[in-house]
Amino acid sequence: MSQNYQVDNQGYYGPYGGAYVPEMLYPNIMELQNNYLSIINDVSFQKELDELLHNYVGRPTPLYFADRLSKYYNTNIFLKREDLCHTGAHKINNSLGQILLAKRLGKTRIIAETGAGQHGVATATACSLMGFECDIFMGAKDIVRQAPNVERMKMLGANIVPVHSGSKTLKDATNEAIRNWINNPTDTHYIIGSVVGPHPYPDIVARFQSVISKEVKLQLGKNPDYIIACVGGGSNAMGIFYHYLDEDTKLIGVEAAGHGVDTPMTAATLAVGTKGVLHASMTKVMQTNDGQVVEPHSVSAGLDYPGIGPQHAYLEEVGKATYHSVTDQEAIDAAHLLARKEGIIPALESAHALAYLEKLVCFKKDIVVVNLSGRGDKDLETYKTFSDNEY
Ligand SMILES: *Cc1c(COP(=O)(O)O)cnc(C)c1O
Repeated sequence: MSQNYQVDNQGYYGPYGGAYVPEMLYPNIMELQNNYLSIINDVSFQKELDELLHNYVGRPTPLYFADRLSKYYNTNIFLKREDLCHTGAHKINNSLGQILLAKRLGKTRIIAETGAGQHGVATATACSLMGFECDIFMGAKDIVRQAPNVERMKMLGANIVPVHSGSKTLKDATNEAIRNWINNPTDTHYIIGSVVGPHPYPDIVARFQSVISKEVKLQLGKNPDYIIACVGGGSNAMGIFYHYLDEDTKLIGVEAAGHGVDTPMTAATLAVGTKGVLHASMTKVMQTNDGQVVEPHSVSAGLDYPGIGPQHAYLEEVGKATYHSVTDQEAIDAAHLLARKEGIIPALESAHALAYLEKLVCFKKDIVVVNLSGRGDKDLETYKTFSDNEY
Protein backbone atom coordinates (compact mmCIF):
# COMPACT_ATOMS: atom_id res chain seq x y z
CA MET A 1 0.00 0.00 0.00
CA SER A 2 1.52 3.31 -1.02
CA GLN A 3 1.74 5.87 1.74
CA ASN A 4 0.69 8.65 -0.64
CA TYR A 5 -3.00 8.57 0.16
CA GLN A 6 -2.70 7.39 3.75
CA VAL A 7 -2.29 9.39 6.92
CA ASP A 8 1.23 10.73 7.61
CA ASN A 9 2.91 10.40 11.00
CA GLN A 10 1.62 13.82 12.03
CA GLY A 11 -1.97 12.69 11.48
CA TYR A 12 -2.54 14.52 8.19
CA TYR A 13 -3.70 13.75 4.66
CA GLY A 14 -2.01 16.63 2.85
CA PRO A 15 -3.50 19.74 4.50
CA TYR A 16 -6.45 17.81 6.02
CA GLY A 17 -6.86 15.85 9.24
CA GLY A 18 -4.92 16.46 12.45
CA ALA A 19 -6.30 16.54 15.97
CA TYR A 20 -7.70 19.96 16.88
CA VAL A 21 -8.76 18.92 20.37
CA PRO A 22 -9.06 20.91 23.60
CA GLU A 23 -6.12 20.40 25.93
CA MET A 24 -8.27 18.37 28.33
CA LEU A 25 -8.64 15.73 25.63
CA TYR A 26 -4.91 15.32 24.94
CA PRO A 27 -4.38 12.34 27.29
CA ASN A 28 -7.21 10.33 25.66
CA ILE A 29 -6.11 11.13 22.11
CA MET A 30 -2.43 10.53 22.84
CA GLU A 31 -3.22 7.15 24.40
CA LEU A 32 -5.02 6.16 21.19
CA GLN A 33 -2.37 7.61 18.87
CA ASN A 34 0.42 5.82 20.68
CA ASN A 35 -1.26 2.42 20.82
CA TYR A 36 -3.73 1.87 18.00
CA LEU A 37 -1.35 0.60 15.33
CA SER A 38 0.44 -1.94 17.49
CA ILE A 39 -2.91 -3.25 18.76
CA ILE A 40 -4.60 -3.43 15.34
CA ASN A 41 -1.56 -5.05 13.71
CA ASP A 42 -1.23 -7.66 16.43
CA VAL A 43 -1.89 -11.16 15.09
CA SER A 44 -4.13 -12.27 17.98
CA PHE A 45 -6.22 -9.08 17.61
CA GLN A 46 -6.70 -9.74 13.92
CA LYS A 47 -7.64 -13.34 14.58
CA GLU A 48 -10.27 -12.39 17.14
CA LEU A 49 -11.74 -9.71 14.85
CA ASP A 50 -11.70 -11.98 11.78
CA GLU A 51 -13.58 -14.68 13.68
CA LEU A 52 -16.23 -12.22 14.86
CA LEU A 53 -16.61 -10.78 11.36
CA HIS A 54 -17.06 -14.29 9.99
CA ASN A 55 -19.25 -15.97 12.61
CA TYR A 56 -21.15 -13.03 14.04
CA VAL A 57 -21.43 -10.45 11.24
CA GLY A 58 -21.66 -13.03 8.45
CA ARG A 59 -18.63 -11.96 6.41
CA PRO A 60 -17.57 -12.17 3.70
CA THR A 61 -20.66 -10.43 2.37
CA PRO A 62 -21.58 -11.49 -1.19
CA LEU A 63 -20.49 -9.60 -4.27
CA TYR A 64 -23.68 -10.01 -6.27
CA PHE A 65 -23.91 -9.61 -10.05
CA ALA A 66 -27.12 -7.63 -10.62
CA ASP A 67 -28.18 -9.07 -13.97
CA ARG A 68 -31.43 -7.19 -14.60
CA LEU A 69 -30.02 -3.88 -13.37
CA SER A 70 -26.97 -4.43 -15.60
CA LYS A 71 -29.18 -4.98 -18.64
CA TYR A 72 -31.17 -1.85 -17.79
CA TYR A 73 -28.00 0.26 -17.71
CA ASN A 74 -26.24 -1.72 -20.46
CA THR A 75 -23.15 -2.48 -18.40
CA ASN A 76 -21.96 -4.94 -15.72
CA ILE A 77 -23.03 -4.02 -12.20
CA PHE A 78 -21.95 -5.82 -9.04
CA LEU A 79 -23.41 -4.99 -5.63
CA LYS A 80 -21.27 -5.38 -2.50
CA ARG A 81 -23.89 -6.60 -0.08
CA GLU A 82 -23.09 -4.81 3.18
CA ASP A 83 -26.85 -4.77 3.71
CA LEU A 84 -26.52 -8.44 4.65
CA CYS A 85 -24.22 -7.70 7.62
CA HIS A 86 -25.69 -8.38 11.06
CA THR A 87 -27.65 -5.23 12.07
CA GLY A 88 -28.16 -4.36 8.41
CA ALA A 89 -25.27 -2.10 7.47
CA HIS A 90 -21.49 -1.74 7.31
CA LYS A 91 -21.26 0.15 10.62
CA ILE A 92 -20.90 -3.07 12.66
CA ASN A 93 -17.45 -3.67 11.06
CA ASN A 94 -16.16 -0.56 12.80
CA SER A 95 -18.01 -0.95 16.11
CA LEU A 96 -16.67 -4.48 16.61
CA GLY A 97 -13.13 -3.45 15.67
CA GLN A 98 -13.21 -0.53 18.06
CA ILE A 99 -14.64 -2.49 20.98
CA LEU A 100 -11.82 -5.02 20.65
CA LEU A 101 -9.42 -2.07 20.58
CA ALA A 102 -11.08 -0.68 23.73
CA LYS A 103 -10.72 -4.07 25.43
CA ARG A 104 -6.98 -4.16 24.64
CA LEU A 105 -6.67 -0.62 26.06
CA GLY A 106 -8.20 -1.86 29.31
CA LYS A 107 -11.45 0.10 28.99
CA THR A 108 -14.77 -1.09 30.44
CA ARG A 109 -17.21 1.55 29.27
CA ILE A 110 -18.17 2.77 25.79
CA ILE A 111 -19.70 6.05 24.70
CA ALA A 112 -20.89 6.94 21.22
CA GLU A 113 -22.87 9.60 19.45
CA THR A 114 -25.62 8.82 17.00
CA GLY A 115 -27.87 10.81 14.70
CA ALA A 116 -30.03 8.39 12.77
CA GLY A 117 -29.34 5.70 15.32
CA GLN A 118 -27.54 3.28 12.98
CA HIS A 119 -24.15 3.77 14.62
CA GLY A 120 -25.85 3.64 18.01
CA VAL A 121 -27.43 0.28 17.20
CA ALA A 122 -24.14 -1.16 15.91
CA THR A 123 -22.30 0.05 19.01
CA ALA A 124 -25.02 -1.13 21.43
CA THR A 125 -24.80 -4.52 19.70
CA ALA A 126 -21.02 -4.70 20.13
CA CYS A 127 -21.33 -3.66 23.80
CA SER A 128 -23.93 -6.33 24.52
CA LEU A 129 -21.72 -8.94 22.87
CA MET A 130 -18.67 -7.94 24.91
CA GLY A 131 -20.43 -7.10 28.17
CA PHE A 132 -19.49 -3.40 28.13
CA GLU A 133 -21.42 -0.58 29.72
CA CYS A 134 -22.77 1.65 26.92
CA ASP A 135 -23.97 5.26 26.88
CA ILE A 136 -25.30 6.58 23.58
CA PHE A 137 -25.59 10.37 23.23
CA MET A 138 -28.43 11.42 20.99
CA GLY A 139 -30.09 14.76 20.24
CA ALA A 140 -33.56 15.06 21.79
CA LYS A 141 -34.99 15.83 18.36
CA ASP A 142 -33.39 12.72 16.84
CA ILE A 143 -34.73 10.55 19.68
CA VAL A 144 -38.23 11.44 18.54
CA ARG A 145 -37.46 11.14 14.80
CA GLN A 146 -35.65 7.80 15.09
CA ALA A 147 -37.88 6.02 17.60
CA PRO A 148 -37.45 2.43 16.25
CA ASN A 149 -33.65 2.60 16.54
CA VAL A 150 -33.97 4.05 20.06
CA GLU A 151 -36.06 0.99 21.02
CA ARG A 152 -33.45 -1.32 19.48
CA MET A 153 -30.63 0.29 21.45
CA LYS A 154 -32.63 0.06 24.69
CA MET A 155 -33.45 -3.60 24.13
CA LEU A 156 -29.74 -4.25 23.56
CA GLY A 157 -29.06 -2.76 26.99
CA ALA A 158 -27.67 0.64 26.02
CA ASN A 159 -28.40 3.75 28.03
CA ILE A 160 -29.69 6.60 25.84
CA VAL A 161 -28.56 10.06 26.96
CA PRO A 162 -30.81 12.77 25.48
CA VAL A 163 -29.03 16.00 24.49
CA HIS A 164 -31.13 19.15 24.77
CA SER A 165 -28.55 21.76 23.76
CA GLY A 166 -28.23 23.57 20.41
CA SER A 167 -30.30 22.17 17.56
CA LYS A 168 -30.79 18.92 19.55
CA THR A 169 -29.27 16.85 16.73
CA LEU A 170 -26.07 15.01 15.82
CA LYS A 171 -23.49 17.78 16.27
CA ASP A 172 -24.82 18.57 19.76
CA ALA A 173 -24.74 14.88 20.67
CA THR A 174 -21.12 14.74 19.49
CA ASN A 175 -20.15 17.72 21.66
CA GLU A 176 -21.79 16.10 24.67
CA ALA A 177 -20.03 12.78 24.06
CA ILE A 178 -16.66 14.57 23.88
CA ARG A 179 -17.41 16.36 27.15
CA ASN A 180 -18.27 13.05 28.79
CA TRP A 181 -15.04 11.50 27.50
CA ILE A 182 -12.96 14.33 28.99
CA ASN A 183 -14.58 13.63 32.37
CA ASN A 184 -14.00 9.85 32.16
CA PRO A 185 -10.54 9.48 30.61
CA THR A 186 -9.42 6.23 32.24
CA ASP A 187 -12.27 3.71 31.91
CA THR A 188 -14.04 4.99 28.78
CA HIS A 189 -13.46 4.58 25.02
CA TYR A 190 -15.33 6.79 22.58
CA ILE A 191 -16.42 4.90 19.44
CA ILE A 192 -16.75 7.35 16.54
CA GLY A 193 -18.95 6.02 13.75
CA SER A 194 -17.31 7.32 10.57
CA VAL A 195 -13.93 8.37 9.12
CA VAL A 196 -14.22 11.73 10.89
CA GLY A 197 -12.98 13.32 14.11
CA PRO A 198 -9.45 13.85 15.39
CA HIS A 199 -6.50 11.69 14.32
CA PRO A 200 -6.29 8.70 14.68
CA TYR A 201 -10.05 8.09 14.25
CA PRO A 202 -10.24 8.55 10.46
CA ASP A 203 -7.43 6.01 10.06
CA ILE A 204 -8.86 3.58 12.64
CA VAL A 205 -12.30 3.55 11.03
CA ALA A 206 -10.87 3.29 7.48
CA ARG A 207 -8.80 0.28 8.52
CA PHE A 208 -11.79 -1.48 10.10
CA GLN A 209 -13.96 -0.80 7.03
CA SER A 210 -11.20 -1.77 4.58
CA VAL A 211 -12.34 -5.40 4.92
CA ILE A 212 -14.96 -4.42 2.29
CA SER A 213 -12.41 -3.78 -0.48
CA LYS A 214 -10.19 -6.61 0.69
CA GLU A 215 -13.11 -8.96 -0.02
CA VAL A 216 -14.06 -7.33 -3.34
CA LYS A 217 -10.50 -7.82 -4.59
CA LEU A 218 -10.68 -11.54 -3.87
CA GLN A 219 -14.26 -11.92 -5.13
CA LEU A 220 -13.84 -10.12 -8.44
CA GLY A 221 -10.37 -11.39 -9.32
CA LYS A 222 -9.66 -8.34 -11.48
CA ASN A 223 -9.98 -4.61 -10.98
CA PRO A 224 -13.35 -3.03 -11.74
CA ASP A 225 -13.51 0.06 -13.95
CA TYR A 226 -15.61 1.96 -11.42
CA ILE A 227 -16.39 1.79 -7.73
CA ILE A 228 -19.33 3.87 -6.48
CA ALA A 229 -20.26 4.54 -2.84
CA CYS A 230 -22.40 7.04 -0.97
CA VAL A 231 -20.64 9.50 1.36
CA GLY A 232 -21.97 10.83 4.66
CA GLY A 233 -18.85 10.99 6.81
CA GLY A 234 -17.36 8.59 4.30
CA SER A 235 -16.70 5.28 6.07
CA ASN A 236 -18.40 2.84 3.69
CA ALA A 237 -16.78 4.70 0.76
CA MET A 238 -13.34 4.66 2.38
CA GLY A 239 -13.77 0.96 3.13
CA ILE A 240 -14.48 0.04 -0.48
CA PHE A 241 -11.84 2.48 -1.88
CA TYR A 242 -9.08 1.42 0.52
CA HIS A 243 -7.40 -1.43 -1.35
CA TYR A 244 -7.92 0.29 -4.72
CA LEU A 245 -6.05 3.50 -3.92
CA ASP A 246 -3.01 2.20 -5.82
CA GLU A 247 -5.02 0.82 -8.76
CA ASP A 248 -6.44 2.68 -11.73
CA THR A 249 -10.07 1.88 -10.87
CA LYS A 250 -12.10 5.10 -10.95
CA LEU A 251 -13.33 5.84 -7.42
CA ILE A 252 -16.59 7.75 -7.16
CA GLY A 253 -18.17 9.16 -3.98
CA VAL A 254 -21.79 10.30 -4.05
CA GLU A 255 -22.99 12.95 -1.62
CA ALA A 256 -26.56 13.93 -0.77
CA ALA A 257 -27.61 17.00 -2.77
CA GLY A 258 -30.90 17.17 -0.84
CA HIS A 259 -33.14 19.55 -2.78
CA GLY A 260 -30.11 20.56 -4.90
CA VAL A 261 -26.62 21.98 -4.37
CA ASP A 262 -27.83 25.41 -5.51
CA THR A 263 -30.37 25.47 -2.64
CA PRO A 264 -29.75 25.79 1.14
CA MET A 265 -31.38 22.36 1.59
CA THR A 266 -28.31 20.23 0.84
CA ALA A 267 -25.74 18.01 2.54
CA ALA A 268 -23.19 17.88 -0.32
CA THR A 269 -20.16 19.05 1.67
CA LEU A 270 -17.56 18.82 -1.10
CA ALA A 271 -19.86 20.66 -3.51
CA VAL A 272 -20.61 23.64 -1.26
CA GLY A 273 -18.20 23.40 1.68
CA THR A 274 -14.96 25.22 2.42
CA LYS A 275 -11.86 24.38 4.44
CA GLY A 276 -12.38 24.46 8.18
CA VAL A 277 -12.30 22.51 11.43
CA LEU A 278 -15.23 20.28 12.33
CA HIS A 279 -15.20 17.77 15.17
CA ALA A 280 -11.50 18.33 15.79
CA SER A 281 -10.40 17.68 12.21
CA MET A 282 -9.29 20.02 9.41
CA THR A 283 -11.56 19.16 6.49
CA LYS A 284 -14.26 20.62 4.25
CA VAL A 285 -17.25 21.99 6.13
CA MET A 286 -20.59 23.52 5.22
CA GLN A 287 -20.20 26.91 6.90
CA THR A 288 -21.02 30.57 6.60
CA ASN A 289 -18.33 33.12 5.74
CA ASP A 290 -17.70 33.72 9.44
CA GLY A 291 -17.34 30.02 10.17
CA GLN A 292 -20.77 29.08 11.58
CA VAL A 293 -21.67 25.50 10.71
CA VAL A 294 -24.69 25.39 8.40
CA GLU A 295 -27.51 22.96 9.20
CA PRO A 296 -27.47 20.34 6.40
CA HIS A 297 -30.44 18.69 4.73
CA SER A 298 -30.86 15.24 3.27
CA VAL A 299 -33.89 12.95 3.17
CA SER A 300 -31.43 10.31 4.35
CA ALA A 301 -30.54 10.70 8.03
CA GLY A 302 -27.24 8.85 7.57
CA LEU A 303 -25.99 11.39 5.01
CA ASP A 304 -27.27 14.47 6.85
CA TYR A 305 -23.83 15.66 8.01
CA PRO A 306 -22.21 19.10 7.42
CA GLY A 307 -18.66 17.70 7.11
CA ILE A 308 -16.74 14.85 5.50
CA GLY A 309 -13.75 12.72 6.49
CA PRO A 310 -10.39 14.47 5.90
CA GLN A 311 -9.08 11.65 3.69
CA HIS A 312 -11.93 12.25 1.24
CA ALA A 313 -11.20 15.99 1.18
CA TYR A 314 -7.64 15.04 0.26
CA LEU A 315 -8.53 12.38 -2.33
CA GLU A 316 -10.71 14.95 -4.06
CA GLU A 317 -8.05 17.64 -3.95
CA VAL A 318 -5.38 15.41 -5.55
CA GLY A 319 -7.88 13.94 -8.05
CA LYS A 320 -7.59 10.34 -6.84
CA ALA A 321 -11.36 10.10 -6.37
CA THR A 322 -14.20 12.17 -7.76
CA TYR A 323 -17.29 13.27 -5.88
CA HIS A 324 -20.75 13.96 -7.22
CA SER A 325 -24.17 14.41 -5.70
CA VAL A 326 -27.72 13.25 -6.33
CA THR A 327 -30.96 14.74 -5.02
CA ASP A 328 -33.45 13.27 -2.54
CA GLN A 329 -35.82 12.43 -5.39
CA GLU A 330 -33.12 10.79 -7.53
CA ALA A 331 -32.17 8.57 -4.59
CA ILE A 332 -35.79 7.58 -3.92
CA ASP A 333 -36.28 6.69 -7.58
CA ALA A 334 -33.11 4.57 -7.56
CA ALA A 335 -34.35 2.67 -4.51
CA HIS A 336 -37.64 1.84 -6.25
CA LEU A 337 -35.76 0.74 -9.37
CA LEU A 338 -33.52 -1.66 -7.40
CA ALA A 339 -36.54 -3.06 -5.55
CA ARG A 340 -38.31 -3.79 -8.87
CA LYS A 341 -35.28 -5.05 -10.80
CA GLU A 342 -33.45 -7.10 -8.18
CA GLY A 343 -35.77 -7.69 -5.23
CA ILE A 344 -33.51 -5.70 -2.92
CA ILE A 345 -34.73 -2.70 -0.91
CA PRO A 346 -31.64 -0.55 -0.28
CA ALA A 347 -31.02 1.89 2.56
CA LEU A 348 -31.80 5.44 1.50
CA GLU A 349 -28.09 6.24 1.94
CA SER A 350 -27.04 3.45 -0.44
CA ALA A 351 -29.73 4.55 -2.89
CA HIS A 352 -27.65 7.69 -3.47
CA ALA A 353 -24.80 5.55 -4.81
CA LEU A 354 -27.26 3.63 -7.01
CA ALA A 355 -28.77 6.86 -8.36
CA TYR A 356 -25.40 7.85 -9.77
CA LEU A 357 -25.70 4.95 -12.25
CA GLU A 358 -28.12 7.22 -14.16
CA LYS A 359 -25.28 9.69 -14.72
CA LEU A 360 -22.32 7.37 -15.15
CA VAL A 361 -21.06 7.31 -18.73
CA CYS A 362 -19.74 3.78 -19.20
CA PHE A 363 -19.41 1.00 -21.78
CA LYS A 364 -21.14 -2.35 -22.09
CA LYS A 365 -17.89 -4.16 -21.24
CA ASP A 366 -17.24 -2.08 -18.11
CA ILE A 367 -17.39 -3.48 -14.60
CA VAL A 368 -19.04 -1.27 -12.01
CA VAL A 369 -19.10 -2.12 -8.30
CA VAL A 370 -21.65 -0.31 -6.12
CA ASN A 371 -21.35 -0.48 -2.35
CA LEU A 372 -24.78 -1.38 -1.01
CA SER A 373 -24.00 -0.03 2.46
CA GLY A 374 -27.28 -0.99 4.15
CA ARG A 375 -30.78 -2.37 3.90
CA GLY A 376 -33.89 -0.25 3.55
CA ASP A 377 -36.29 -1.60 6.19
CA LYS A 378 -35.65 1.50 8.32
CA ASP A 379 -36.61 3.76 5.39
CA LEU A 380 -39.97 2.30 4.42
CA GLU A 381 -41.89 5.26 5.88
CA THR A 382 -39.87 7.68 3.74
CA TYR A 383 -40.21 5.56 0.61
CA LYS A 384 -43.95 5.38 1.20
CA THR A 385 -44.34 9.12 1.82
CA PHE A 386 -42.48 10.05 -1.34
CA SER A 387 -44.44 7.55 -3.45
CA ASP A 388 -47.74 8.88 -2.07
CA ASN A 389 -46.73 12.35 -3.21
CA GLU A 390 -45.65 11.11 -6.57
CA TYR A 391 -48.68 9.11 -7.61
C1 LIG B 1 -24.43 5.70 8.41
C2 LIG B 1 -24.67 5.15 7.05
C3 LIG B 1 -24.05 5.71 5.89
C4 LIG B 1 -23.22 6.95 5.94
O1 LIG B 1 -22.04 6.84 6.67
P1 LIG B 1 -20.62 6.71 5.96
O2 LIG B 1 -19.67 6.88 7.08
O3 LIG B 1 -20.51 7.78 4.94
O4 LIG B 1 -20.56 5.37 5.35
C5 LIG B 1 -24.26 5.10 4.67
N1 LIG B 1 -25.06 4.01 4.55
C6 LIG B 1 -25.67 3.45 5.62
C7 LIG B 1 -26.53 2.26 5.41
C8 LIG B 1 -25.50 3.99 6.90
O5 LIG B 1 -26.12 3.44 7.96
